[in-house]
Amino acid sequence: MEVEVFEDVDQIWSKWHGQRCPMCKEGVLSDGVRYGTKEIAGIKYEYKQVASWCDTCGDGVIINNPIKEVSLEEFLEAQRLQKLEA
Ligand SMILES: [Zn+2]
Repeated sequence: MEVEVFEDVDQIWSKWHGQRCPMCKEGVLSDGVRYGTKEIAGIKYEYKQVASWCDTCGDGVIINNPIKEVSLEEFLEAQRLQKLEA
């Protein structure tokens, strides 16, 4: 498993970057992308996972897309309003 740590400051935006790893509590997290392969039903797939990766235990905190989070909040708010109207 190979992690390519983001060098470009514009790519580093997660709140986890530079934080202590919550899994092992020893390492430091860095935003980056990990390339790997997964085999599902005999077919190999390449994947890349953007996360904040620990330099010690190798675990990572998956970074949520803030745009998606905003739309989820909007969705929940819309649902709440619908319930009030019903
Ligand atoms: Zn760790």
